[in-house]
Amino acid sequence: MTTQQTTITSHPMLVGGEQTEALSGRWLEVTDPGKGEVFARVPRGGAEDIDAAVAVARRTFDEGGWTGLPAAERARLVWRLGDLVEEHADELAALESRNQGMPVAQARLSVLGVAATFRYYAGAVQRLDGRSSDVQAAGRLFHAYTRREPIGVAGIIVPWNGPLLLLSWKLAPALAVGCTSVIKPAEETPVTAIRLAELCLEAGIPPGVVNVVTGVGEEAGGALAAHPRVDKVSFTGSTETGRAIITAAMGNLKKVTLELGGKSPVVVFGDADVPAVIQGAAMAIFANAGQICTAGSRLLVHRDIYDDVVAGVSKIGQSLKFGYGTEPDSMMGPLISAKHRARVASYVDSGREQGAEIVTGGAAADGPGFFYPPTVVANARPDMTMVREEIFGPVVAVIPFTDDEEAVRIANDTTFGLAASVWTRDVGRAHRFAARMRAGRVGINVHPSPDVTMPTGGYKQSGWGRELGAEGLEAYLETKAVMTLL
Ligand code: NAD
Repeated sequence: MTTQQTTITSHPMLVGGEQTEALSGRWLEVTDPGKGEVFARVPRGGAEDIDAAVAVARRTFDEGGWTGLPAAERARLVWRLGDLVEEHADELAALESRNQGMPVAQARLSVLGVAATFRYYAGAVQRLDGRSSDVQAAGRLFHAYTRREPIGVAGIIVPWNGPLLLLSWKLAPALAVGCTSVIKPAEETPVTAIRLAELCLEAGIPPGVVNVVTGVGEEAGGALAAHPRVDKVSFTGSTETGRAIITAAMGNLKKVTLELGGKSPVVVFGDADVPAVIQGAAMAIFANAGQICTAGSRLLVHRDIYDDVVAGVSKIGQSLKFGYGTEPDSMMGPLISAKHRARVASYVDSGREQGAEIVTGGAAADGPGFFYPPTVVANARPDMTMVREEIFGPVVAVIPFTDDEEAVRIANDTTFGLAASVWTRDVGRAHRFAARMRAGRVGINVHPSPDVTMPTGGYKQSGWGRELGAEGLEAYLETKAVMTLL
């Protein structure tokens, strides 16, 4: 029998338009989670590499070559970047799928979302303007106006669950308004960020505007969040790391945007369309193997239809084909790592120990790769650990309720506030519920997906600020008031 050796490719970082290795000479291994084997390596950048990249980004910003371009010219290049992403969709999707594990068809959709994000912000920045007014003060007349200016050097730190798409939600507005940036991708999924930075150069965006430093969270990410010459840090990741980012950013009081964890409820009333609920609730938790911040991980169902919904979602879970990203019929990929899979499993075990019923799934799959099957946990209670904490896997806890007030109370009984959905045929009840949900995104008869035109972000401990939509530009802007004596 012959064993095939995987070729390990090296992916240097990109600083000032140059391919760069870590100053320490160290490398990080990157694993294919569908096979459980190393397929690439990237530099293990540290504080000294962050320092060098920030110096380049700072100089590029201060010299004004990018920032000083007319908005329409920057927009032309950002739009061109969107086109290049689309032209390279197959290549980027293959890379994303191999590194993150998601089915390649899903990766391709997310790459098209990246292209759309660059185009949206290329358009949005051209409609950005200030306001003007005539001011009378101390008996004198002034003409006054506001200017919207780029915030400066942006530090961008992203997670592994949607590596390229979540990066584009930050990079597109930052680029469009004229910021320069240093990107720190997740250590698990760094390869597409590096490729995107190369495409930025190909699009004609000057060297030094977009820089990528790969490395471990506390080392490279921590140094970026703390760096005194960075004006802004935009972070997506866990709530726990979000707290560390705030502490690190305090030194120079840099502006902070945080997109953090979630424990989003899917609330199903007795009058809902049950087949639609079953389909929607299953996709809300099993898509991307549940590794979505807005995943519908708490399924609250009225007692009248509870058994039907549990049975329906479990049936979909059992029939969902999970497998390697390039398998044509694979609908769900692996979890990102062995460590993460062990964490997901421990939450399911805790539910079992606390008296919940595992209807389907509930044990790691055999074979190579970090697969964990769709798992439905019935008779869950709001006080269980697996209901209170973010699992970030294909595991749904189903909780019964009796009346509207109880449903609202349980749905809001969480430290998170990212998303929610309500399922009912009663229009008034749906809107009342949407208004009472303490969450940044609410769906009515749909678990809400993000859209580039609409803001997304968290209430409570799910974050600070908003991304996407017109609001997404605000995070990278300062507003200056100018007065002139008439
Ligand atoms: P994580 O917090 O462990 O890591 C995210 C990023 O932060 C990585 O690049 C990591 O290297 C870096 N990092 C880690 N420690 C750091 C530190 N001390 N200082 C600076 N940077 C540091 O999160 P993860 O496990 O990669 O991602 C999963 C989490 O992300 C989940 O909680 C999920 O809900 C959240 N998430 C939120 C959104 C949203 O839009 N709200 C979207 C996707 C994921």
